Amino acid sequence: MEYEAVIGLEIHAQLLTESKIFCGCSTQFGAEPNENTCPVCTGMPGVLPVLNRRVVELALRTAVALKGEIAPRSVFARKNYFYPDLPKGYQISQFEAPLSLGGYVEIEGDGGTRRVCLTRIHLEEDAGKLVYEGTMEKADAGYVDLNRTGVPLIEIVTEPELRSPEEAAAFLRKLRSILRYLEVCDGNMEQGSLRCDANVSIRPVGSEGLGVRTEMKNMNSFRFVEHALEYEIQRQIATLDDGEKIIQETRLWDTSKNVTMSMRSKEEAHDYRYFPDPDLVPVEIDSTWVEEIRGNLPELPDEKENRFVEAYELPIEDARTLTATAELADYFEKAVARFPQAKKVSNWILTELLRELNRDEREIGGCAVTPEHLSGMLAMIEDGSISGKIGKQVFEEMYRTGKEPQAIVKEKGWVQIQDSSELAGVIDHVLVSHPDEVSKYRAGKEKVFGFFVGQVMKATRGQANPKRVNELLREKLQSDN
Ligand code: ADP
Ligand code: MG
Ligand code: ZN
Repeated sequence: MEYEAVIGLEIHAQLLTESKIFCGCSTQFGAEPNENTCPVCTGMPGVLPVLNRRVVELALRTAVALKGEIAPRSVFARKNYFYPDLPKGYQISQFEAPLSLGGYVEIEGDGGTRRVCLTRIHLEEDAGKLVYEGTMEKADAGYVDLNRTGVPLIEIVTEPELRSPEEAAAFLRKLRSILRYLEVCDGNMEQGSLRCDANVSIRPVGSEGLGVRTEMKNMNSFRFVEHALEYEIQRQIATLDDGEKIIQETRLWDTSKNVTMSMRSKEEAHDYRYFPDPDLVPVEIDSTWVEEIRGNLPELPDEKENRFVEAYELPIEDARTLTATAELADYFEKAVARFPQAKKVSNWILTELLRELNRDEREIGGCAVTPEHLSGMLAMIEDGSISGKIGKQVFEEMYRTGKEPQAIVKEKGWVQIQDSSELAGVIDHVLVSHPDEVSKYRAGKEKVFGFFVGQVMKATRGQANPKRVNELLREKLQSDN
């Protein structure tokens, strides 16, 4: 039997507010344990939550950008369960009446560009964190840190429409890019600002219904999501092939063993006893606010990508990488404004610049080479002051020191040698030192020419103008014939 995978994702994104969703405590990451807490977010008796308007605004921004249908009235509910990181004994979350229904994200899927539909987007508060001394399984002590409690989240739920682990990863990358463009979430997965639950089932290829699904919770890296799904799909296929049944359950992805493990089955699943939170009024959103937000949306990744292809005549692959973040796209546009050869600028960014940044795990914001420096260096190559090869060295210096290209070239004495008499001297020396190669060339072995060029470039430490070297070498080899 041939199977296909069916995947649906639930993504939690932390909204970029300074204070929490129902109190004035800071959302700052990295504070001392329990530093950012108050009676409201620690669930003391008698306190009342007050909704942070900015939270609603950022959630609306996201929902409008993702083409969701905004509910004029949405309701907060209490999701009841017991866990030491949840002091109130319930989490405030939207359940029956979410902020937004529908919408979609366009991805490059297995069969080209396609839309992945969203089920809903809703608001909720985060829970706290348990910290163990020793390992989680064999802890000597456990502590509760409530700094995260009450941090604002949106949950974005997709329809079961993704067909492979690669598509799931493509979806997450695209969504992360959009959230960052919108400045609603920093997308930092290591710090937990973006987390993903992945649901997966399999079914015979060509069938319509849905199989029994398993869910893997709280993964904080695209790679984990992809690997966990790959593993889980194979496990489900093997289970069915053995004539056994898939059990609906929550499984954990073990990042050290690269396997999924059962955490709890449906029978043990919680009954959350949802009911509307009596302490909070419904969220009412008037259409003028929505229209105002719609009018102020920034250019999003897909729009920017299309514009880059059209306005700068870039290949789609270049445009896609350059528009992955708004910062990188801005960098490119600033450099092109000063050195208007888009493809050359793109090549340098996509090869040299991104290679260095990736190696150092740095973002473009922390890059010492400004767009002005890059365009200045390209202008020097263009007017012949330096060779392309020296350009790479200048680039490395700029990256290391943050200095201007002109200053580096001057300091290092890297100006390109164009002067014919100076080059002629070097060429003579090369030819005299390699009599065997000269005779081979004269006997008709044209390929040796490249060897001579190489030798001249080596003797000038890459500073000779290659075009001049070619011309002079040809003259020399012909005239002495
Ligand atoms: P819950 O809130 O209990 O996790 P939902 O029914 O809201 O359950 O579904 C959560 C996610 O699981 C959604 O992204 C949905 O697309 C996905 N999903 C639901 N059924 C299946 C299935 N049979 N196979 C794969 N994914 C599924
Ligand atoms: Mg779920
Ligand atoms: Zn608080």
